Amino acid sequence: MIRLLVLATLCLLCIGQAAFAATAAKLTQRSDIEARYKWRLEDIYATNELWEKDFQKLQGLIPRMAAMKGHLGRSADSLLATLKLNDEIGDVSGRLTVYAGMRRDEDNRVSTYLGMVDRMTGLGTKLGEAQAFMDPEILEIPSDKLESFYKDRPDLGVYRHELENTQRTRAHTLDEAQEKLLALTGDFSGSAGSIFTAFNNADLRYGTIKDDKGADIELTKGRYSRALDSPDRRYRRDAFLQFNRAYKGFNNTLGATMNANVKKDVFYAKARKYTSALAAALDRNNIPVSVYQNLVNTVNANLEPLHRYAALRKKWLHLDTLHVYDLYTPLFPSAKIEVPFEQARVDVVKGLEPLGDEYLGVFKKGLEGGWIDVYETEGKTSGAYNWGSYSTHPYVLMNYSNSLEDQFTLAHEMGHALHSYFTHHNQPFVYGNYATFVAEVASTTNEATLINYLLKKEMPREQRLYLLNFLLEQIRTTFFRQTLFAEFEMRTHEMAEKGDPLTAEAMNKLYRDLYQKYYGPDLVLDPEADVEWSRVPHFYNSFYVYQYATSYAAATALSKKILGEGQPAVAKYLTFLKSGSSDYPIEVLKKAGVDMTTPAPVEATIARFNEVLSEMEKLWDAK
Ligand SMILES: [Zn+2]
Repeated sequence: MIRLLVLATLCLLCIGQAAFAATAAKLTQRSDIEARYKWRLEDIYATNELWEKDFQKLQGLIPRMAAMKGHLGRSADSLLATLKLNDEIGDVSGRLTVYAGMRRDEDNRVSTYLGMVDRMTGLGTKLGEAQAFMDPEILEIPSDKLESFYKDRPDLGVYRHELENTQRTRAHTLDEAQEKLLALTGDFSGSAGSIFTAFNNADLRYGTIKDDKGADIELTKGRYSRALDSPDRRYRRDAFLQFNRAYKGFNNTLGATMNANVKKDVFYAKARKYTSALAAALDRNNIPVSVYQNLVNTVNANLEPLHRYAALRKKWLHLDTLHVYDLYTPLFPSAKIEVPFEQARVDVVKGLEPLGDEYLGVFKKGLEGGWIDVYETEGKTSGAYNWGSYSTHPYVLMNYSNSLEDQFTLAHEMGHALHSYFTHHNQPFVYGNYATFVAEVASTTNEATLINYLLKKEMPREQRLYLLNFLLEQIRTTFFRQTLFAEFEMRTHEMAEKGDPLTAEAMNKLYRDLYQKYYGPDLVLDPEADVEWSRVPHFYNSFYVYQYATSYAAATALSKKILGEGQPAVAKYLTFLKSGSSDYPIEVLKKAGVDMTTPAPVEATIARFNEVLSEMEKLWDAK
């Protein structure tokens, strides 16, 4: 599909995690931070006046775009002119958006930049309206006519994949009257999701509990996840029971909300003549349904290591029974590793050496060249992300606080940044972005390569156990847990498609059975665990979370190849980073050397989990 506004390559998966990572501000002022630890937004616009000039320019492009309406199928010339204009609009609006957005993120209290962000949002809506004719008109051009266009204007050839991607959806596009009717449903199609969001973020209260020091505290989402990390079992159990009981009290309401969400997906899939809601969702990026099924089936066939993990965790924590509230508490809290930023830079560069000189050259340029905003300051946006637009260099926002996790965040976000850099330098604007399905591969490959390097270093036994546990937890929460979620989504949609009642009770049972199946007999499930499905916001963005698991698996497989095969694997990996969206995500990944339609990458990830578990077991027994 023609992307109307190719704005930026913001790492959405990271942003999702960032919200939870917010810490209490230490209130350092931005002016107290040395320039070399701040990003250089003046590389985009040296002054706000120059931003204003581009904003005026963009406003002027709107009537030019509107004037193209009705002309796309007339000639190769008018089609090409419109596509080029669309690129120009995307490029300028991308620069404007990222500059305003990142200036705001430096300090959210500065009204100048809040105003600029608002103005861009408003202009974006107008641009969207002005460009809305493009997809329908492209769909109307018969394929043979398009072929003759390519002969008339060979320079139209660069858009061939993009145009084919738009025309690919023809079989699922309805006649004008039906499309109009479907468009009218847009206003309420997200109702289930917005009802859940309002309930979950505004109305629901969790009450008070006693914390680990015996003080009464009001339970919140942030405190809940910190409580689960606590070594104090009474505290984490109370938090778990009370938090989930809050949802259990609204079990039927949340069941009805989820039911409405699933039925909505089934409705659109049927209306657009897809065989299933899953097929409809995956078709957006042309991902075969078999990729999703392959993930779920391969994990199901290899759950033994996760069962072993549950048994070992029970043993290592000296527990008689293992409950869900025992899954997050650190096994080795005493060995917490501190990593100052200067050391992290050195370690990450060393760790990524297997990626070769071309990669490292750009990486070092980024470290020195005003790409990264390192430290937390008053008013700064929390979490971490990579942003930038086609004609800017990449930018990375961090809130670096000297933890091991922060070091991995640096490797992760710079993985996105280099993916953007290589794509922007090797693709025309139209393919200068990449799909979510491949985005997290570039970031996670860096993490997998870095941890391999760190594990080779000499270190005290406790520290090694901490590091191994860090990796193990990453695989458990990013890979196994998200696959469990993905299976839940698949099953609920299948139930609705078969006409089975999708009640809260049915979903409680389904979720409980999945939990037990994944973790095995050593995990004791309290009734409060059954309702976890009813508090996962991602389920209202259906068939999204599986990408966490597939990305993790692809990255594990790629890192293994890079470390094992060296140069040939690195060359393929760079081809992948340079491909942007010039081909479908599955094909782009094949260029990197990993085929997500096969079980191999998923199996390799489970094997890695098992390997790490065995090493921990050996170290543990050696004490
Ligand atoms: Zn990311």
